[in-house]
Amino acid sequence: MKRVYSLGIIGHPVGHTLSPVLHKTAAEHNGIELDYKPYDVSPDELRGFMEGLRGGGIDGLNVTVPLKVAVMDFMDELSAAARGIGAVNTIINKEGKLVGDNTDEYGFITSMAENAGEDMACKKVFLYGAGGAARAICGAIDNIGGVDLVIANRTESKAEKLAARLGNRGASVEAIGFDSDKLVDSIRSADIIINATSIGMKGNTEERLPGVEYISKGQLVVDIVYRPLETPLLKQAGARGARTLDGLWMLIHQGARSFKLWTGAGFPIDLAREKLLLELNNN
Ligand code: NAP
Repeated sequence: MKRVYSLGIIGHPVGHTLSPVLHKTAAEHNGIELDYKPYDVSPDELRGFMEGLRGGGIDGLNVTVPLKVAVMDFMDELSAAARGIGAVNTIINKEGKLVGDNTDEYGFITSMAENAGEDMACKKVFLYGAGGAARAICGAIDNIGGVDLVIANRTESKAEKLAARLGNRGASVEAIGFDSDKLVDSIRSADIIINATSIGMKGNTEERLPGVEYISKGQLVVDIVYRPLETPLLKQAGARGARTLDGLWMLIHQGARSFKLWTGAGFPIDLAREKLLLELNNN
């Protein structure tokens, strides 16, 4: 009898997640039988849910906001990526043994290499944000080494904490607040500017990232927010002549890595993007 993979995503809320479309596309492409469900699990319900998970029935899960750090307490094993980033976005259930991994770093670095032709080595990077996604991006930057990094966050202390986690490897790391007088110069001199805050996301479009008006031609501007696909940052950066990279690529590549961890199968990257663009246009 053909195996049916039982997979899903936990988070709170999970109503608008694109993950079911992403993984169903890959399963169909590979001729894999898949049952992929979103599970809305509040932080208070997490312990009970994770105990049930050990009992079997679900082969693996994606994890999204706000549970990526909290699920770590329930893992029997953590990958080096999950330990380094300090968060789990993928759980593999090996017959009751729960393995926590993190594919966001891979997703980011692969989208930079394959979709923007950029390896970041020895570049000047300006990063907005110091939350979970920023931690994954900093993990990637740390592994590359030689990147001069400025982390700017609304809450400066969180940027400082994140900067202190980095190994640095001969390059500089600076943490600043959104109101810092170093912000404008740091943006002007950057090769790559990345938004890893939720500013620009549907429902958070009132706020504006500071200093965007100093972006110029020759810079690469990346927004990991993908709903809407063309965020206010990418729109402004494009109008100012900068190259841009949208967040859907990172989402697809992190999903591809999770799918591989669960099933061992490859991922139809371009087909997945087509399906996700349709889904974004319809919702
Ligand atoms: P998070 O851990 O909650 O961090 C949120 C970040 O956004 C923090 O730096 C926070 O600053 C900042 N922020 C939120 N609202 C703000 C506001 N009004 N003004 C200024 N700063 C604000 O969230 P996350 O997991 O890092 O996710 C961040 C974004 O990345 C989300 O939109 C998420 O959908 C997206 N994401 C995309 C991918 C992908 O594959 N493309 C993967 C992961 C995440 P403070 O520290 O000051 O609160």
